[in-house]
Amino acid sequence: MRTRRAVLALPLCLALLAAPGPARAQDGDYPGFVASLRSDATARGVSPNTFDAAFAGLRGPDPDVIARTRRQGEFSRPVWDYLVGAVSPGRIARGQAQGKRLATTLAAIEARTGVPRAIVLAFWGVESDFGASAGSLPTVRALASLAYVRHRGTLFRDELLAALQILEKGDIEPARMVGSWAGAMGQVQFLPSVYLREAVDFDGDGRRDIWRSEPDALASIAHYLRSLGWKPGLSWGYEVSLPKEFDLTRYRGPLSDFAARGVRRTDGKPLPVNGEASLFLPGGLGSPVFLITDNFEVIRGYNTSDSYALAVGHLADRLAGGPALAAPWPNGDARLDGPGLKRLQAGLAAQGLYAGEQDGRAGPKLREAVRQYQIREGLPADGYARPALLERLEGRP
Ligand code: CA
Repeated sequence: MRTRRAVLALPLCLALLAAPGPARAQDGDYPGFVASLRSDATARGVSPNTFDAAFAGLRGPDPDVIARTRRQGEFSRPVWDYLVGAVSPGRIARGQAQGKRLATTLAAIEARTGVPRAIVLAFWGVESDFGASAGSLPTVRALASLAYVRHRGTLFRDELLAALQILEKGDIEPARMVGSWAGAMGQVQFLPSVYLREAVDFDGDGRRDIWRSEPDALASIAHYLRSLGWKPGLSWGYEVSLPKEFDLTRYRGPLSDFAARGVRRTDGKPLPVNGEASLFLPGGLGSPVFLITDNFEVIRGYNTSDSYALAVGHLADRLAGGPALAAPWPNGDARLDGPGLKRLQAGLAAQGLYAGEQDGRAGPKLREAVRQYQIREGLPADGYARPALLERLEGRP
């Protein structure tokens, strides 16, 4: 059984561990690494004092951080398994209590940004369990370790330089700049570059404090979502039921068209008249069906995992008093794992149906390719990457 910490770390890891292959230590010239970093930091306006304070006591990469980069396999989980941890009854109860306690702040943020309070709360809950599990590892230590072993190329070196820029600005003291092993900081788990662009001082004390200020953390989430293109007044999506004899090849269009074709929300409320959506069947036909909007893709901008986006959207609905999902999920065996998805991507690419990365991850591009293949083969076009589909594609009985 996974610990709560590991469950919370999952979305971040899904985002950061897309690149295959574990990190490897370099030849062992840590002082040389720090010296070259110092010159790059200076070019970005980081003073010697700031640099020295940030690296005080850091004499080499943190072996625990390096070890974490090698633990990739466990982060591939079915969406239904992920939802159990991310949208638990305990989290819903804690989130509703936090929503009451912070009602005034959340209303002010919603008025300013157009991002619903339940969505802001849901991000806060999934990222750090409402601030309770924001991580306590010094961010410079984490990022210096990852940059030193060149985990994911230059990404973490750039993030480390951004972290030093934050320290230079004085928003946070080095000892309080903490977060996850992968450099995601504070209650909102922003990487430093995201912090520089998106963090907000909402309580007006002159500092953008996503570590200790709840108003700053919550407003920073909403501000980031607006930057990613959040459309006010549009839900992320809805669980729906399909009528019998439904034509799955027409899976995208106006919500009003779906309503006219007999698609109904499972909570009994009417679909809105305006807006566009597409069908999303993360477990295939016979399990929960969703209509997702552009705001679902905005959530994926914070973290590219479908499971993450569904967890945030569903948790928001639950925090606002909505019901549990109506349809049951399939048994856990009926899915392809990362290597299986990679083979599916390669097979679909060979047939000219898939042009995205062959990274073993589900997402909109793979769903589209699966649907095109299903339509070509005369199969129900639910877009779900099931094992039987891979067998068919690879010509096995
Ligand atoms: Ca502040």
